[in-house]
Amino acid sequence: MTEKRIYLSCPTMHGEEQAFVQEAFDTNWVAPLGPNVNAFEKEMAAYVGITDAAALSAGTAAIHLALKILGVGPGDVVFSSSLTFAATCNPICYEKAIPVFIDSEPDTWNMSPKALKKAFETYPHPKAVIGVHLYGTPAKLDEILALCEEHNVPFIEDAAESLSSTYKGKQTGTFGKYGIYSFNGNKIITTSGGGMLVSEDVEGIAEARKLSTQARDVARHYQHTKIGYNYRMSNITAGIGRGQLLHIEEHKAKKQAIYKQYKEAFADIPAITMNPLNPDGDSNNWLSCMTIDNSCAVTPDMVMDALEEQNIESRPIWKPMHLQPVFEQYDFFSHNEDGSSVSEDIFNRGLCLPSDIKNTPEDMEHIIAIIRELFNK
Ligand SMILES: *Cc1c(COP(=O)(O)O)cnc(C)c1O
Repeated sequence: MTEKRIYLSCPTMHGEEQAFVQEAFDTNWVAPLGPNVNAFEKEMAAYVGITDAAALSAGTAAIHLALKILGVGPGDVVFSSSLTFAATCNPICYEKAIPVFIDSEPDTWNMSPKALKKAFETYPHPKAVIGVHLYGTPAKLDEILALCEEHNVPFIEDAAESLSSTYKGKQTGTFGKYGIYSFNGNKIITTSGGGMLVSEDVEGIAEARKLSTQARDVARHYQHTKIGYNYRMSNITAGIGRGQLLHIEEHKAKKQAIYKQYKEAFADIPAITMNPLNPDGDSNNWLSCMTIDNSCAVTPDMVMDALEEQNIESRPIWKPMHLQPVFEQYDFFSHNEDGSSVSEDIFNRGLCLPSDIKNTPEDMEHIIAIIRELFNK
């Protein structure tokens, strides 16, 4: 067993982060506001090519505020991707709205336009649709956005995993009415924890900033006409983000190289299929994933166990939200005509492979050899 643990995806720091943080200390800007926060918002907006951005304490906070700005409230229906992390849909329930879960399609693993269409037939007036770009792969945005426009429903783009991925040449997160990013420790760039809400809607972003700082009205005294939140990003974490953003393209290139290496290494094993990419997009390959054919005796658990024995981290695919006990009372619309769910199938047959950009060539060969051996190669 190797002593060094090989991680799924963990922070990669470069040094510039500390310089921005040091500057914050030197100027005593140790607060949930300050020059790093303002600069990080500007730099992120410029990087993804959008008008405005609000730096927040988490990606989850960004989703919550997007729902608030759209006026989502008790009893409203909100459609959400089912195959995702719970952070995508938890904020729907913070507002006592009703999540309705949409299955994946097999081509990108993201929200199925077919299932979405069915959901619109049952619920013609949802207040919003939240869709993810899972593991970095862009969703079928043209089809999804066309359906949302047809029903005049705003699309919230959960690009927490896909910062730097593009669809038809444009950054994911910039297609919806609102886009959100996450800087959690395992994401493509990190601030230790943090998030960003982006939009062309400058007033909406201003409202998000206000809500994120306890909804203080403009007055000398403390005046409030709305319930607010403590969701603003701190000037320290924003400094980490500014340093990270300088290296995002390098992180993306390394993630893509990892995916390519796995794909080539397993090309002669017909039972293994790598997670799909969208031919209309360029994925950041945040996590490389594989699925195993049902006819094969090797299971995802066996692969994860074999890796763990060698101190190598891997993870199951996100368990779909419609299968979670906490969400079991809510509706779900499947992609397949027979009602079987594509997301459940991916969950059953898949796993996330170690995708840390600090993996050395030897680490990668070691991981690949363990998996190949399981498949008698
Ligand atoms: C990480 C993640 C989030 C939430 O981000 P936090 O910054 O951890 O709150 C939301 N959606 C998806 C799909 C994620 O992977």
